[in-house]
Amino acid sequence: MSHDLVFETAAGLQKRLRAREFTPREALDALADRIAAVDPALGGYLSTDLDDARRQADAADVNLPLGGVPIAIKDVISVAGHPCGCSSKILAGYKAPYDATVVARLRAAGAIPFGRANMDEFAMGSSTENSGIQLTRNPWDTDRVPGGSSGGSAAVVAAREAFAALGTDTGGSIRQPAALCGVVGVKPSYGRVSRYGLVAFASSLDQAGPITRTVEDAALLLGVMAGADPHDSTTLDQPVPDYTAALTGDIKGVRIGLPKEYFIGGIDPQVEAAVRAAVDQYAKLGAEIVEVSLPHTEYAVAVYYIVATAEASANLARFDGVRYGLRAKDTSGLLELYGKTREQGFGAEVKRRIILGTYVLSSGYSDQYYVRAQKVRTLIRQDFEKAFEKVDALICPTSPVPAFKLGERSDPLAMYLADIFTIAANIGGVCGVSIPCGFAQGENTGGKALPIGLQLIGPSFDEARMLRIAHAYEQSTDWHKRRPPVAG
Ligand code: GLN
Repeated sequence: MSHDLVFETAAGLQKRLRAREFTPREALDALADRIAAVDPALGGYLSTDLDDARRQADAADVNLPLGGVPIAIKDVISVAGHPCGCSSKILAGYKAPYDATVVARLRAAGAIPFGRANMDEFAMGSSTENSGIQLTRNPWDTDRVPGGSSGGSAAVVAAREAFAALGTDTGGSIRQPAALCGVVGVKPSYGRVSRYGLVAFASSLDQAGPITRTVEDAALLLGVMAGADPHDSTTLDQPVPDYTAALTGDIKGVRIGLPKEYFIGGIDPQVEAAVRAAVDQYAKLGAEIVEVSLPHTEYAVAVYYIVATAEASANLARFDGVRYGLRAKDTSGLLELYGKTREQGFGAEVKRRIILGTYVLSSGYSDQYYVRAQKVRTLIRQDFEKAFEKVDALICPTSPVPAFKLGERSDPLAMYLADIFTIAANIGGVCGVSIPCGFAQGENTGGKALPIGLQLIGPSFDEARMLRIAHAYEQSTDWHKRRPPVAG
C-alpha cells in the first residue's frame, strides 16, 4: 500500500478514490498505519474505532463530494455510538446517542467520521494542556503545545495522520491551534453552521468548523457542513454558496483592512514581520490595503471571560453524576452526589470558569459584570460593522506568538491572552480563518521552525469572499506545503 496517500489533501484523496486508484478501505488502512507510526509521539487522538471506520469505508460511495474520506472529530462533537468525552473525566464512558448535524452532513457527503481528537477539557484553554486525559504535542516541536482547544484536531492534520478534522471555536479554538500547527482553520459566522450535537461551552459564541491543510479543503468541508438546521434555531436560513467555486484566485480591487489596534506591542517580532510581509504580498496580488480602527478591541478578552464563563456555568450544570458519565461513589444524598461528582470529574480550569461564571451572574453582581459585558459586546459588534463598510476583510496575526513550550504558561491570565486576536470575531459573530504565512526560527525557537498563522476576518455570512482572499495568498506561497519533521 502506497503510504504517500496520507500526504494527500482531502480533495486530492477524494479525486484519487473517485478515479478508482485506491479503495476507501486502502486509504483508511494507510491512515491507520500512519497513526500507529506517528501518534504515540504526539497524542493527537484519544481513540480510533477502526472496525466501525472499515465498515463505513466498505460502504462508501466515492462519487459523493467527500466519498471515502476519513475525518477526525474533536471530542466535543457527537458521533453516534462513539465516545464523546470532551477530554473530561466527568464524561468517562459516555457515548453519543446520535450524530451532530455537522457529522450527519459529512456522512451524507460520503465522509467517514473517524477518531476522537484530543482537546482542552470542555474546550476551555489554548494549549490542550487542560485535557483531563492526555497531552498533545506540536508536530513541529514535540516540546511545545499544539495550541487549543482543538489542539488534537490541528496536530493530527499537520502530522498527516488525518486528511481533515472538525474543531470548534468559541474564542479562537479552531484558528489558534491551526496557526500553531501550520494548517488552515475556519471559524464560520455565528449561525452559519449548526451547533446541534456539540457539547455546549458558550452557546452564543460556539461554532464548529474545519481544520485542513489547504483552503480548498476548508471550502469543501464548510460547504457540506453549513446551512440552516431545524434542530438549531440560531442557524440562519440563508443559501450556502459554492465555496469551492469562490476560490477564483482573483482578488484585484479587494479591500483589506489593517486594524491599527492589532499591531501594538506584545507581538513576537518574527510573527509581526511575517504578517507584514503577507500584507505586502496582498498588495502585489492587487488588493487595496487600508488602515481601519476597531476601537473597542481592548475590551474583547474581558468581555469574553464574562460572557463565556457565564454561559459555561449554566451549560455545565447538567454534568451532575445523574445523567452522564462519572458518578461519585459512597455518597449519601443527592447534593453530596452532585458535589463529589463535580469535584472529582472536573479539572481545575473548568472549575475556575464555573466559579467565575456563577459569580458574574449572581444577583448583586450581574449588572456590574454580565449586563455591562453584553453592552460592550454590542460596541465590539458595531466596530466590525463600521470597519466592514470600508473593507472586505481584516488582516492580523492569529496568535501573537508561535507555539509555546509545554508547561510554560501556568498562569491562567497569560494563557487567556493567547486569544487576544481571535476572541473579537466570536463576540461579533463574524467569520475568521487562519492560514500559514511563514515560520519563526532562531535562538528563541531552539533552532526549530515554528509555523506562523495569518488571520483574515470577514463580515457575517461572507465566508465565500474571505476564503477567496485566503486562497489567493495561499496559492502564491509554499508555506502550506511544508511538512513538520514528525511527518517525515
Ligand atoms: N482559549 C479560549 C478559552 O479558553 C477559547 C476556547 C475556545 O475557543 N473553545 O476559552
